[in-house]
Amino acid sequence: MAQEMFEGCRDPLALPQPNREIQTLRVGFRGGRVKSMRNLTHDTYEIVVECEDKRKIGEAGQFWTIRVPGIRKPRPYSFARAPESENPGEHTFYIRLVPGGELSAWLAGGDCVGEEVTLSGPLGKFKLDPSDEDMVCIAGGSGMSAVHAIIEHAVNLRVARNCYFFYGARTQKDLYLNEEIEALQKRWHPDYVLKFHQVLNEEPEDSDWTGGRGLVTDYFKQHYLATGQVSVDRMKAYFCGPPPMIDAGISVLQKAGLANRNIFYDKFEDARSPVPVIDNSKCVLCDECLMVKPVENCIVEVSSLHRTDGGSPGTMEYEEVEPAATAGLYYNTLYINEKECIRCYACVEICPAKAISPDFTPMPRTLADIVD
Ligand SMILES: Cc1cc2nc3c(=O)[nH]c(=O)nc-3n(C[C@H](O)[C@H](O)[C@H](O)COP(=O)(O)OP(=O)(O)OC[C@H]3O[C@@H](n4cnc5c(N)ncnc54)[C@H](O)[C@@H]3O)c2cc1C
Ligand code: SF4
Ligand code: SF4
Repeated sequence: MAQEMFEGCRDPLALPQPNREIQTLRVGFRGGRVKSMRNLTHDTYEIVVECEDKRKIGEAGQFWTIRVPGIRKPRPYSFARAPESENPGEHTFYIRLVPGGELSAWLAGGDCVGEEVTLSGPLGKFKLDPSDEDMVCIAGGSGMSAVHAIIEHAVNLRVARNCYFFYGARTQKDLYLNEEIEALQKRWHPDYVLKFHQVLNEEPEDSDWTGGRGLVTDYFKQHYLATGQVSVDRMKAYFCGPPPMIDAGISVLQKAGLANRNIFYDKFEDARSPVPVIDNSKCVLCDECLMVKPVENCIVEVSSLHRTDGGSPGTMEYEEVEPAATAGLYYNTLYINEKECIRCYACVEICPAKAISPDFTPMPRTLADIVD
């Protein structure tokens, strides 16, 4: 989930303001083919998708969903390059295999070059901020993708600010992109630094590794925050990768006094993550969630919802609104169907009324009490 965190209380009488950027965030579809595929590590691939539509859209930090042959639902993947650095029509992704994962099995199953895929997006609000404050970037695993894109974008813009990039992995065999980061360091603004630290948490004690050890967030705290090399008074933090790493990093910086508005993150949720729930009593009918959803039926307008046995999310039976056919009053009840949702959290981010959250009780609340 990519999210900008805001502070402060809202005036309860003020209506939530729809997002003015919504038109640029509206989801689009592009057909393409896998142009190339290479191993970055033993379990991480770079794939480049080439689309017929050559227009450059989206910003570093955002993501596309990719639908591949034989798998019903698409999956979200972050841009691994700044869009302005890509060849026209090309989109680069870094994908790490997940044990038991469907798309992972497709990727590991052989040569995917030439396979037809469909992209939808671009989605997400994780992106470079326009300030000149120090950037602290912390990534783990395939979270390298979005952070690499953001740093490449910062280099292209020739930003005049320092950047401290900490990358967490298990062992040396999980490291990649050294040459590419070195190249970005050479192009960084000469009056400022782009520092890069790799931190390993499962590297054998007796190995030849001389870099950082332990959890990447602990390393950052001990070597940079505690020593005053960076200060929360002049800092923007970017996190990308596994949700537990991001939660740990946010906690470190919040305790050090960094305001939530200076923390940006992109959590790589997957099928194991909780499905978001819509609280229809907060919904202001703006339709923005419907405009950014990358899957046709993940959010449905329903005229009735019925619990089935157990009443857990995704086990609700519903009657979809058909304007010409549905009898009776339309109660504006939106429902997220767990079976279709791909946990991209685009709807959570976009909702101006904070009516969608994975933390809400699984039982949807409705404007009228129509849940049986
Ligand atoms: C915004 C965003 C950006 C992302 N960017 C990247 C990226 O750049 N690179 C990257 O590698 N990944 C990224 N991801 C993660 C990616 O979208 C996929 O989730 C990941 O690649 C796994 O896909 P899969 O099809 O292989 O696994 P899936 O088939 O989706 O399964 C994932 C895991 O869940 C388990 N599982 C499946 N169904 C269930 C179920 N019903 N109950 C319990 N467990 C279940 C599987 O066994 C497996 O372990 C991103 C995610 C998000 C939300
Ligand atoms: S319901 Fe929300 S989180 Fe789920 S796929 Fe649709 S937009 Fe993404
Ligand atoms: S739930 Fe959807 S329609 Fe309702 S306020 Fe949020 S974004 Fe708008």
